Amino acid sequence: MMNKHPRFLLGGVLAGALVLAACGSDDDAGSAASETTAAAPAESGDDTTSADGGMVTVYTGRHYGIEPVFDAFTADTGIDVRFTTGKDPELRERLIAEGANTPADVVMTADAANIELSAEAGILASVDSAVLTETIPEELRSENNDWFSLSQRARVIIASTERVDDPPTTYAGVGDPQWQGNLCLRPSTHPYTQSLVASLIIAEGEARATEIVQSWVDNDPLYIDSDTDIYQAVADGECDIAIANTYYLGRLLTEDPDFPVEIVWPEQDGRGAHVNVSTAAVTANAPNPEGALALIEWLATDGQQQFADANFEYPVDPNVEPNEIVAGFGEFTADLAAVRLLGASQPAAVEVLSATGYE
Ligand code: FE
Repeated sequence: MMNKHPRFLLGGVLAGALVLAACGSDDDAGSAASETTAAAPAESGDDTTSADGGMVTVYTGRHYGIEPVFDAFTADTGIDVRFTTGKDPELRERLIAEGANTPADVVMTADAANIELSAEAGILASVDSAVLTETIPEELRSENNDWFSLSQRARVIIASTERVDDPPTTYAGVGDPQWQGNLCLRPSTHPYTQSLVASLIIAEGEARATEIVQSWVDNDPLYIDSDTDIYQAVADGECDIAIANTYYLGRLLTEDPDFPVEIVWPEQDGRGAHVNVSTAAVTANAPNPEGALALIEWLATDGQQQFADANFEYPVDPNVEPNEIVAGFGEFTADLAAVRLLGASQPAAVEVLSATGYE
């Protein structure tokens, strides 16, 4: 019965001005809001579908290739998925505003800090799932089991293969004066930047993290609010090195196997490369909590390979191998210990970015 609540009128939304989920979009954490459904007819207006397994509604800040993944879930389970995409913080605000009336059963983010902030806001449900606790390493789910990582995304140093012989191997090394005027960075407003700086604070302390970020700023970076454009800027010679997520290179190499940018794994003698995560949680007011948990468990198990591969990310299940192109990036040590702490250090990260004049 709880699947029968009338929710937003999807057909009307689709006929309106909203943009459909942009699967090829550059940036999952920064796209415009959009609403669509993976499997149900847009006109149906209720949750009864031919699959007859009920409906799960998802708010997702991660939308890279999710529609085929949700379709596969529906084919496997008979449960339809309706999803809305938006920026992580916007979807959190929406969940808070909707309160008990939210149609969302599941919230997914492209960033660990943002899901932790949702947990602190009391909008996530703690779930008891042996499937999830046995499949997902402890560092990659919350202590209260109110959120779970579904894939890992490493944020690394990238360098031109044509112009750079000796790239930095630490995040601090990015601030070496030799990179003055030849560095590209994502702006301070982006969650990827904030979580990276949060990881510096966790590993090095706030004073040292401030010095490191200041050294980046002193290198007069070119700020580009798109990782894809950052890779292209390195390829084109606008900068020699940059910091970016690895999965964008997976996409670029699919189009051009000779794309002239390489990944440098940072901090391999220490804490490991900064790793962020795609996450999922059952919402505190989920109309269909059973369906919500079924979806998250499926994404962590039967759908894990497809979910990770859809965006060249690293699986959270250590028994699942990364995609072939991703495996080609080589083995690396990841800073998993910081993942749960990124949310708590996010406000300090924002302060460090502001204090150093990072744009
Ligand atoms: Fe991204």
